[in-house]
Amino acid sequence: MGSKNTAAAGQSTRQIIDELEDYYDKDNLYFQTISSVLEAADLLNIPHNVKLMLSQPKNEIMLHCPIQMDDGSWQLFKGYRVQHNNVLGPYKGGIRYHHEVKLDEVKTLALLMTMKCALARLPYGGAKGALKIDPRAVSPRELERVTRRMTAALGNNIGPDYDIPAPDVGTNAQTMAWMADTYINFAESSRKVMAQGVVTGKPLEFGGSAGREKATGQGVVFVLETLLPGIGLELARQSYSLIGYGNVGSWTARLLQARGAQLKAVLDHTGAIINQAGIDAEALAVHVRQTGGVRGYPHAREISEADFYATPVDLFIPAALEQMVDLEHARTMQCKVLVEAANAPTTPDAEHHLLERGVEVLPAILCNAGGVTVSYFEWKQNRLSETWDESVVDARLKTVMCRAAAHVLATAEKLDCNLRLASYAAALERISTVYRLRGVFP
Ligand code: NAD
Repeated sequence: MGSKNTAAAGQSTRQIIDELEDYYDKDNLYFQTISSVLEAADLLNIPHNVKLMLSQPKNEIMLHCPIQMDDGSWQLFKGYRVQHNNVLGPYKGGIRYHHEVKLDEVKTLALLMTMKCALARLPYGGAKGALKIDPRAVSPRELERVTRRMTAALGNNIGPDYDIPAPDVGTNAQTMAWMADTYINFAESSRKVMAQGVVTGKPLEFGGSAGREKATGQGVVFVLETLLPGIGLELARQSYSLIGYGNVGSWTARLLQARGAQLKAVLDHTGAIINQAGIDAEALAVHVRQTGGVRGYPHAREISEADFYATPVDLFIPAALEQMVDLEHARTMQCKVLVEAANAPTTPDAEHHLLERGVEVLPAILCNAGGVTVSYFEWKQNRLSETWDESVVDARLKTVMCRAAAHVLATAEKLDCNLRLASYAAALERISTVYRLRGVFP
């Protein structure tokens, strides 16, 4: 799992970025991510036109939703839907509710969805959406109104054959139920059944899939089971720390606990906690559900954010927001493997530093592909009017995740590059082949 970064590759990447006639900001998340994707493209000699097309999203939709709040006042909420690429199939990607979300972040996440779906061999392209709102700061009725208004405003820009949103940070099965219901209300009578497939991650009782809620965490665990033995590590003997105890973090923890791994420290938006003897993942999940965060969990001690990052563990698992592992934190981290359960959690200089120190970095488009994979299973069940048992979902998810992990490993060996570049290269190979077969209209 070495690292290759040729001067020629850098030059070609620079050329594409220059052709975009866009800003050239090395601290910009989208620029950083596309640079890495283009670096991988150069390892495979991907044609120039494919690199150019992937360098910017196909569509960037921006909308504003006027909402009357419960107290009678009015607010305008900004929304985004970025559709990066659909050469492999309909656009697919989550909808995030966060008060600090920015367009470049949504573009980055949409690009990563294109790569992730291609790597997992799903018949989807990549997209991402966001609403600039703090879901904890509004009432459930206000949240429902803004969700329905946003869905109506998106109109035909989403659809079960065109662009299929799903939950992400700050959204959940309830959000998806409101979106699906709104979309179905606008659909023609003959298309109402199929219209349910407009979003995935729906509640089980309303077209959802068994195993979807835990799917991203389950995928992380399947990746670890596949890759850790090759690094000489046995999952059951690993200690780990987690950033984020939401959907992805808490499910990863509960599933790792069942496999014998030990949770030592957690950081979320409310604070950081540690227990060197181990934190019970189930009990912590109950505490977070009741109080909204890890702070105040009675069977652990509060620590500072700096102490959290410096806690020695075998696996360090970020499962919250982007760029939380920066160089300053990376310098203090003491782990063997960085497991990117969140999207884009590591800055390029932090990654470089960790790789230099011999830390394995398992890339996000592989680690967290379980969510979109079970979303695909949900979409497929909706189209076939079928309901699969959880055991069927889990078995099919395991097949997809293990195949993707093995593919990344083989690509890293073939191209003599790190796992992030290998994961992008594996995805790009598929996208480029389809472009070659389809051609570019007109
Ligand atoms: P979530 O809203 O359920 O949880 C987010 C977590 O992040 C919470 O625990 C919150 O406390 C924590 N957090 C927020 N701000 C923080 C801060 N400043 N410091 C520390 N912690 C902070 O979101 P999620 O669905 O679990 O998503 C987490 C990550 O996983 C995101 O990067 C998301 O894009 C990615 N992801 C999610 C899915 C999915 O199926 N939900 C699928 C693939 C990838």
